[in-house]
This record gives sequence, C-alpha cells and structure tokens, in this order.
Amino acid sequence: MIKLDNISKYYYSSNAVVPALKKIQLEFNIGEFVAIIGESGSGKTTLLNIISGVDTYDDGELYYNGEPTSHFDAKDWEEYRKNKIGFVFANNNLIENYSALQNVESSLLIQGIEVHKARQTALDLLDKVGMSDFSGQKVAKLSSGQRQRLTIARALAKNTDIIIADEPTANLDSKTGKQIIELLSKISKHKLILLVTHNYEGVESFVTRKIRIQDGQVVLDIPVEQENPTETAMISISEPTSVPTSEPTSEPTSEPTSETTSEPTSESDIIISTKKNIIPIKSSGSIARRFALMNLTSQRQKSTLLFTFMLLTAIVSFVFLGIIYSNQDDVRTRSYDKSIFYHEDMNRIAVRHSDGAEITKTDMEFFRSAAHVKIADMYDYANDINYYSDTDYKYTYSMSYDHNGVLAEVRTLNFLNEDHFMKSASAIGEDDLRAGVLPTELYEIAVYSENADIIGTTIDYYFTAKNIWGVTQHYFTTCKVTGILKEERDQIYFSEKLCSMLTVGLSKNTYLPLRYDYTVDEKRYKGSAAPIPIIGEGLEYKQIRGTQEFFMTTSLHPIGKAELSVLLHDDYGLTYKTTIYNMEIIPEANEYNSSQFFEFSEQFFNELFPQGSPQASLYIDDYAYMDGVLSVLKEQGYEAISTYSTSAIKYIPEKVKERMSTIYACILILLFLCIFEILIVVSFLCIKSKNFTLLKYMGMDFKTAKKITYYELPTYALAASVVVICTVIADKICGIGYFADLFKYFKIYSIIIYFAYNIFIAIITSFLFNRYLHRKMKKELI
Ligand code: ADP
Ligand code: MG
Repeated sequence: MIKLDNISKYYYSSNAVVPALKKIQLEFNIGEFVAIIGESGSGKTTLLNIISGVDTYDDGELYYNGEPTSHFDAKDWEEYRKNKIGFVFANNNLIENYSALQNVESSLLIQGIEVHKARQTALDLLDKVGMSDFSGQKVAKLSSGQRQRLTIARALAKNTDIIIADEPTANLDSKTGKQIIELLSKISKHKLILLVTHNYEGVESFVTRKIRIQDGQVVLDIPVEQENPTETAMISISEPTSVPTSEPTSEPTSEPTSETTSEPTSESDIIISTKKNIIPIKSSGSIARRFALMNLTSQRQKSTLLFTFMLLTAIVSFVFLGIIYSNQDDVRTRSYDKSIFYHEDMNRIAVRHSDGAEITKTDMEFFRSAAHVKIADMYDYANDINYYSDTDYKYTYSMSYDHNGVLAEVRTLNFLNEDHFMKSASAIGEDDLRAGVLPTELYEIAVYSENADIIGTTIDYYFTAKNIWGVTQHYFTTCKVTGILKEERDQIYFSEKLCSMLTVGLSKNTYLPLRYDYTVDEKRYKGSAAPIPIIGEGLEYKQIRGTQEFFMTTSLHPIGKAELSVLLHDDYGLTYKTTIYNMEIIPEANEYNSSQFFEFSEQFFNELFPQGSPQASLYIDDYAYMDGVLSVLKEQGYEAISTYSTSAIKYIPEKVKERMSTIYACILILLFLCIFEILIVVSFLCIKSKNFTLLKYMGMDFKTAKKITYYELPTYALAASVVVICTVIADKICGIGYFADLFKYFKIYSIIIYFAYNIFIAIITSFLFNRYLHRKMKKELI
C-alpha cells in the first residue's frame, strides 16, 4: 500500500547539502508491524516523515495504494496526513490542558464526528488502551506511560491504515515500554505500523519485519517470524464481537460497563470503534465552535486572562465612547439667548399641536406618561414669566422732582432674584397636596409650607416677563393660598386662569390696538396704544382701566371714550377679522402695576380671550434624553422643540474648541486602546499557540483552526460588553454612579457601535493571530 521508489532527501544548510535519505526502495503493506532501527542521525525520522507526508522528498516517487504523490500540493498533503496517517511519537504532542478524554475526542471531532458519538467513541478507545480510569484527568497530570497510551488511543481515533510510531517508548521505563509495544502489536493486524526504536530486543517478539537504516540507506530488510503474532499480542481475550456494519453512525458503541478494567480489550473492538469511512457530519464551523467551547472550560487561566483583557477594553471603551456621546450635542458650546424662552432650562421642551389646537387633558396625560418626562405644564408661556415674593424684591426710596416740579420721595422697585418662573396648577395633581385644594380661581396658589394654617392667607407677588412685556413692565397682584404641597420646594403653582391671563396676548393670534378719543378744555385729543390686557376688579362689562403710570408717561387723560379694535391674525400675521368695541376708560388702576397694562372686566376679558393654552412645557430628567423624547412626541404628531437648543444660537469659540479637543482625544484613546489590545492579545495568543499546532497535527485543517479563534475572541468581547452594559444598567437601577451617568448618552445605535467596536477589535485580533498561525502551521508541520 505504501511504496518508496528511489526516494532521496537532502537537507540544505548554509554551506552544505546533507543527504538524509539515498535512493530508498521499500514497500509496506497492511498487517505489517515494521521495526526500523539504526544509529542516531541515520535517517529514520526522515524516512517516517516522508512516508507520513510531514516532509517532502527530493527525488523518486512515493506511491500510496499505487497512486503517485509527487503532484500533491500542500492541501493534498494536509488531507493525506489527516486521513491516512496516525502518529505516535516519543514527545507525544498531547494537549496538556485538555483531559485524556478531550485529547482523544478532539481527534474525532476534527474528523467531523458528531459530539455524542465522538464522546462515546473516545471513551471506548480509552478503554481499549486501558485508560478509562483516567479519562477526566488533565494530560499534564498523567505519567509518561499513560501519555503514550493516550497517544495511541488518539492515533486510533484517527482511524488510519498507517500508524507511524517514532521511538514511542523512548521516554518510558522498560516495563511500560513493553506494554505500549504490546498495545501497538495488538492493533497491527489491520494496520501498517512503522515503529522506530532503539530497543530492538524489546520489540523483537512482536514485529513482523526488521529494517536497518545506515547513512540514509536501507542496509537490512528482513521478515521476522512470529509463532502466532496475533495471539501472542493478545493481552486479554474477549469474545469476538459482531462484524462491523458499513454504516458507522448507526453503530451501537459499546457502553463502558461499571466493571471496566484498565486492561486493554480485544483488537476487534478497536476496529469497530474506529471504523473506516466515517462520513463527517459536522461542518468546520461547528467543529471550531466545539473547540472554542472546550478551550473555554479546559484552559481556565487562558480564558480568564483573555476575558479580563476584553473586559478592561470593554470598560475603557465604554467610558470614552460615553464621553464622545455626551459631547455629541454641541448645545453646550453655544450661548443662550433669552429673547424667545426667557426661562433657561436645559431640560425643557415646548410642545404643541401642529394645527395650533389647544392642549387638552388627554394631551397632558400622554405627556406625563412619556418616558423621562418629569413635569408637564399646560401653560408654556407662563413658564417664561418671573414671579417675585417678598424676599425676591426690595423698595428703595430717594428724593426726586416729580413732573409738576415738586420734590417728593420716589419709590424704586428692585427685583433681586430672577430665578423663580411661574408654573400653573396643571403641573401638579391632588396627590401633590398635603392639605387644601388645587388653585382654580384667578388669584389662588399652592405653595409649600410646614404650616398648613397658611391656607386662606394672602401673599403679594410681582411678575415680570422681560421678553414679552419688555424690561420695564411688571404686574402686581395679591394671591390667596388654597393648597399646601407635600414636598418641600420653592416653586409656587399659580391658577391656570392667572397663567392664561398673563400670557393671553401671546397665546392667541390677537392684537389689541386701543384708540383714545377724549376732550380736555374743549380740545379734542387722540391717542393710541397697544395695551397688555389683564383682568381688573370692580369693572363693569365694557369698562377699561389704564395703569396710573401709563397715563403719566403718555400724558393722556385717564377718562374718556376709547375704541378697542380686536384684530385676529392668521398664521402669517395677516389680519383676517377686526372687531371694534366701544369702551369707557375709567381711572384709578392698580398703582403697583407699571405701564401699558389695561384692565378689563373679567366677563369681557373671557369673551375676548378663551382660556386654555396652545403650548405646553415639559421638563425631562436629563438633557441626554432630549432627542429621544422629542422624537417620541413628533411620532405622536406634536411639534416639539428643546427650548434650550432652540435658544442656544451663538457659538462660544473656547467651548467649541474644548468640545472638539475632548472628542479628538477620546477618538485617539479609543484608537490607541484598539491597537494596544490587539498587540497584547495577539502576542499572548502567539505564546499560547502550541495547542493549535497540535490540533493541526491531529488533522485539523487551517480553515477550522482559524475559526476557533474567530469564535473564541468575539465571544469574549461580546460577553465582556454585555457584562459592562448589564453592570451599568444595574448601577443605574441601584443608584447613580459614573457609568450610569454616561449611559444616559447611549442610544440604540451607540450601543450597537459600542458592541461593534469591541467585537471588531476581537475580529482583527483573531485575524492577525490567524495570520501568524497560518505561517507557523505552514512552517512547522508538526
Ligand atoms: P534519525 O531519526 O535516524 O536520528 P534523522 O532522520 O533525524 O535521523 O536525520 C537524518 C540526517 O538528516 C541527520 O544527519 C540530520 O542531521 C539531518 N537532518 C534531519 N532533519 C534536518 C533538518 N530539518 N535540517 C537539516 N538537517 C536535518
Ligand atoms: Mg529520529
């Protein structure tokens, strides 16, 4: 079956050619047990290497089953080694951190045998070589004799016709060595065994042929007569088993019984277990997966180290990706312009219907139920109005000449604290009250107080709306406490009516020009103004009242007739309806209110301006969620904007620079981390790559071998990323930590990028390591 025809082999060193084999003529057949002897350096190993396809020959031809092999390419040799040759060497090339069972199993798995079948066959084979008691033992803990038995079991697992044994007993004591030779002879009946030995006496009684090599030439080739080679070789005799069927997968494997002995059983059993022509039923992918899994459990240290490294990368990349994401929105690099939304709050959203319809209770319910929305206030415009309680303002007095030239004391109002903005009662519910009721009437409020007795008492407030009324206007009124808040907070909740009233000119497309027409000293005067309408007390239906200051500054007489035109505008600012009311102006307006306010009777006011609000204010828990909340609102058909991002218009160069350098620094760090991790892990894997060479030698092709790493590393990376994300989520649930803070900025796509980054590194690492492995496997066949 194997024929060497004039085979020569030369080794080339730097300045000489060493002929290792010279014109070898040999032929071997199934059933032979050949002892090859000779001095050290005579060429025995070279001969075996050529027969096993581990090394190439330079001259002549090697025939396998009559077929020449000189045209074989690397892949053909790989197939040849994988399928035709079983190896048993002195340095037994076992995978140290695999168990005995896993070593044999590996060989079967590489052939594509299904997992359960492989396990069973491996157990049987271990039984055959007397190793069943040690199946779970790590190879590193086995004695040299046990290792050699295991090597044989593994060679048998490959189920080849030819077994190459290069000094298999070299490292064994003579007794153990003899057992190994016995074991080999026992299986030689249906195989060709080529055994290189230095101890011919020890094998003489088993072999069928003796070959001596000297200086690369065959100097002796004689048959060795055995009285009854097979019987002699039997160690223990068992009943002949059934004839093997041709369908290996359906074959029942002999269950290892409880009284399994350590003694090898009969040869025929071995033949059955390793029947020829096993059809591989596993793809290289699933084989690789199996090995990846096996490595995970059997190479704890390596797995732990790799995982730890991936975990570190996952943590560091989380932090720096998080910093990038937190800087993604450039809103912080722009300065805030208060002209549209006076109340500067990063977490505020202004929301309305696209058709301008009023916000309803249903809308409010939806807003409140939306994720991340903490507060929903139906009256958005009022949220830009400052209110001042007694600690927020102060009067100062000075002497000054009034408009009549009389020296008089002048009182000046100073607003000290502009931090308080109105909120309407719609932003709270009955649940928020400890006592009393929600404010409903115009001047009612809900406040926090330790003392519930303040219900029914009154508090004075000033209001300013600098972007709406201008900087000089303020409104003054006295409010009555109706509700006490449960939670301690600064915020005062005003009635919806008051919020509506103070913003009414804004919320409706209404414009109120007021034309005066009055007579003083028989002279007619005319004037006009654009008043800010408010509700005044004690007015009849169509009476209006201007503020004292207004009449003072305009020098107009406070009594007379007035024509009020109410102009309704469309969305483009065009007037589409004008209604003219004949009004009567009466004096004595509230002295505290400054300029341009005109008081209307409540009835007339409500007729002109229906209550309600076309725009609500929402406050979310963090600006990081702004985009998410806005898109949810937009999906529901609302128009929604971040008041902050809309008002932050002008870029601040230093902040822009700062943001860009932060982003660049993070990108650089991530790049560096990527390179660093790849270098470290690839180096680490290269150091630990011996197992791969062994797997290759056990018949695994490179295609499968590289898949192992492609499964292993990305799985670690994925697991590490999942661990980080889960930890962060746990952190978020249990209390706010630094990670959870960054996690706010992670959206679905950022999580995908995060995973991709980590898995990408793992894939690149696998790729680079596999390139190294490819070179290494090519170079060292064994
Ligand atoms: P044996 O196994 O009989 O001890 P080998 O087959 O290993 O002998 O070696 C035969 C000859 O070939 C020796 O002279 C050895 O030095 C030489 N040789 C073996 N392998 C190589 C090699 N890879 N490179 C160069 N010379 C080698
Ligand atoms: Mg040798």
